[in-house]
Amino acid sequence: MVEAVEGITVFEKDYGETSKILTIITKEHGTISVISKGCKTTKSPLRSVSSKLIHGVFHVYYKEGKLSTLKSVDVIDRYKNIYADLKMISYASLLLELSSQVIKQNDDSNIYDILNAALKKIDEGYDPMIVSDIVSLKYLEYLGVMPSLDACSICGSNKSIATLSSDAGGYVCNNCRTNEPIVSEKAIKLVRMFYYVDIAKISKLDISDNVKLEIHNFIDRYYDRYTGIYFKTKKLLKVSE
Ligand SMILES: [Zn+2]
Repeated sequence: MVEAVEGITVFEKDYGETSKILTIITKEHGTISVISKGCKTTKSPLRSVSSKLIHGVFHVYYKEGKLSTLKSVDVIDRYKNIYADLKMISYASLLLELSSQVIKQNDDSNIYDILNAALKKIDEGYDPMIVSDIVSLKYLEYLGVMPSLDACSICGSNKSIATLSSDAGGYVCNNCRTNEPIVSEKAIKLVRMFYYVDIAKISKLDISDNVKLEIHNFIDRYYDRYTGIYFKTKKLLKVSE
């Protein structure tokens, strides 16, 4: 039976001479793999929809836990602006890779919603680094290693938060702080906002480069320390920046 599944393609791989296997993150079935038969032939109607970074409704012969077969796609979004910009493509690729790694550990359907909203914001022109950091921070909850951003990660007090520390696991208050470097008050406030904000509702992201970097470094080190996730794309981004 053909099933209509909303999703976003995250990987494509050649299969034989004329076909591809696509990995799709879906709202309802977590990650699925589909074979797009004959999509590399010039006349195939699947040709233009069998690549990574397509948001659509995928009509598939769905087989749970097995390779499904793609019949057709109603495209919702091709992310035209992302495709036109190398930096945006890099961040979008990072998000695809990150999302598929997170979903392996937790197939909560919110992950699809977060990815979907984030790609849309990047395509609309919002700072891709900030959007990626918001997503990365939110995913920590689904990885089971959420940092402490309501109170000091050491003593639990919510008074006089002094800084953010990836080693301590989030906020650190004045009483507990030893030699952790101080970050700006803005970064302390914003990192918490990053966690709670509904990405789809963001209408402005006006953040200075300095604050952006303070938050980015915190999240980056936090991933290194508390998650086993390794990104191929991230290494590439570092080189290109
Ligand atoms: Zn404390």
